[in-house]
Amino acid sequence: MTHASQHPATIAVTAGRPPAESDQPLNAQIMLASSFIAGGDLEYARFQNPTWTALEETIGQLEGGRALAFASGMAAVAAVLDQVPVGGRVVVPRHAYQGSLGLLEQHRVAGRIEPVLVDVEDVDAVVAAIPGASLVWMETPTNPALEVADLARIVAAAKQAGVPVAVDNTFATPLLQRPLEDGADVVVHSATKLMSGHSDVIMGAVVTNDDDWFTRLHGNRSLHGAIPGPFEAFLVLRGLRTLDVRLERAQANAKAVVAALEAHPAVSRVRYPGFSTVVSFELESAERADRVVAAVRLARHATSLGGVETTLERRRRWASESKSIPEGLIRLSVGIEHADDVVADLLQALDA
Ligand SMILES: *Cc1c(COP(=O)(O)O)cnc(C)c1O
Repeated sequence: MTHASQHPATIAVTAGRPPAESDQPLNAQIMLASSFIAGGDLEYARFQNPTWTALEETIGQLEGGRALAFASGMAAVAAVLDQVPVGGRVVVPRHAYQGSLGLLEQHRVAGRIEPVLVDVEDVDAVVAAIPGASLVWMETPTNPALEVADLARIVAAAKQAGVPVAVDNTFATPLLQRPLEDGADVVVHSATKLMSGHSDVIMGAVVTNDDDWFTRLHGNRSLHGAIPGPFEAFLVLRGLRTLDVRLERAQANAKAVVAALEAHPAVSRVRYPGFSTVVSFELESAERADRVVAAVRLARHATSLGGVETTLERRRRWASESKSIPEGLIRLSVGIEHADDVVADLLQALDA
């Protein structure tokens, strides 16, 4: 049994469990099935799967809504963007996750959606872009610029204009930010990142407390078929059980890293919003940043983020990264190793 009064850190551990009865397992089982005996609620595994249900109950309780698991974060993003009517305008951070911007660009080229790029830290500009839009897409903090949006003000403006708001909550996780409580209509996650936390699974989720949104997104998932495997759902649920302690350690490590980077003469700027586990820092050039990335010994040079291991990359190595992200910007995903070792590794790489 879980209760709304429990702390999120507790819900992450207790939700989505089988009933506390003799011989029940402690954990939801990996349900390998394509079809279920007719006459019940399940019927066919493109519509529902009990392993997803355990995960969805947990994510839903954490965010304060009903969750749907998707095959990837991008599948979740795509399902929400599919709800925009043809020709609709979508307000979107200019530094949103490059995949979300790339998908919006595909919709634009096909004549389906008109994206309106905004600087999320310029609240007045965001608010001014909202009237007449079909959707406000928010991501905060943004990836990799780590800009923070004033969600409460933006949601209030969108409500007044009758425009729904979707928030990509991947970087904050529901333990640090719950956009539905701010009035957002839909929350989107790449569960690939902090939620699963071990760099071993690709998965996504949407969460909403609006029945109409839920029905449309469930219908979209059932018919597009962007469903996760039950094993992947199990892994994400297993990862969620330790999210709070992982976040606690990785955030403490991130703060230690920020202090060390800020004191280093080669680092021209450190970006860290004060929470979450990603730190972006800037060096004078792409070459200098590439040398640092090549010189780390403990951290791994790899894309993605939110795993227990520290990883880093120069974001502009990707041709698809926004051109307003500096060439020398390194995005560091801070893991849960000992802070001293993470800091020492970065300092030796900066001095190499
Ligand atoms: C990674 C990421 C996504 C996409 O998720 P995938 O699981 O890779 O499909 C979406 N939004 C943000 C903020 C991300 O970091």
